[in-house]
Amino acid sequence: MPSIHFQDGSARAVANIFCIGRNYAAHAAELGNQVEPEPVVFLKPTSALLEEGQPLRLPAFSQDVHHEAELVVLIGQGGKHIAPEAALQHVAGYALGLDLTARDLQTVAKQKGLPWTLAKGFDGSACVSRFVPAAALPAPGEATFSLDVNGQRRQSGDCRMMIYDLPFLIAYLSDRFTLQAGDLIYTGTPAGVAALQAGDQLALSLPGLIDARFEVA
Ligand code: MG
Repeated sequence: MPSIHFQDGSARAVANIFCIGRNYAAHAAELGNQVEPEPVVFLKPTSALLEEGQPLRLPAFSQDVHHEAELVVLIGQGGKHIAPEAALQHVAGYALGLDLTARDLQTVAKQKGLPWTLAKGFDGSACVSRFVPAAALPAPGEATFSLDVNGQRRQSGDCRMMIYDLPFLIAYLSDRFTLQAGDLIYTGTPAGVAALQAGDQLALSLPGLIDARFEVA
């Protein structure tokens, strides 16, 4: 079973990979999307996981794979109908990740009203850093993070700018699905998404806590 790792080397089996779309207004606008009245939710298969240190290979069936830097939540204690006030108690850890997206396939899927699975779920499309324990990030709603590509800042995230905050997202997902220990939640990307090229060097940073590097093969 696929697993993630904490910075101390301990591993945790991954259950489901939930992803939230359009959770930052500026990113929704850059793709010409409306902000929806409820979160946009999609899933990736666990075969999409790619941990820091593994080579990132772009799929041959896309000519336009975009990076989407995101804060990733690891659920430690599952539940159903979790109250927003209790939601963060269900979190075991945090990481930074890349929700890689075959934008060309996604654009066609959107036009046809088809699912995004082929555009969002390919091998390596769920990149993730090592995790830090939840206690290391006591105010995740105020966290900031960034993605540099080849030394240039591409994306800057500020969780205070999320349309749906972490407690709401956990409560909302637990209303629709039974959350399980080992579930991951990719919480949406800020503006600045763009295509990756062979040889790109990516650096994800959550200052003082996470510094992760990925290289496009
Ligand atoms: Mg995303």
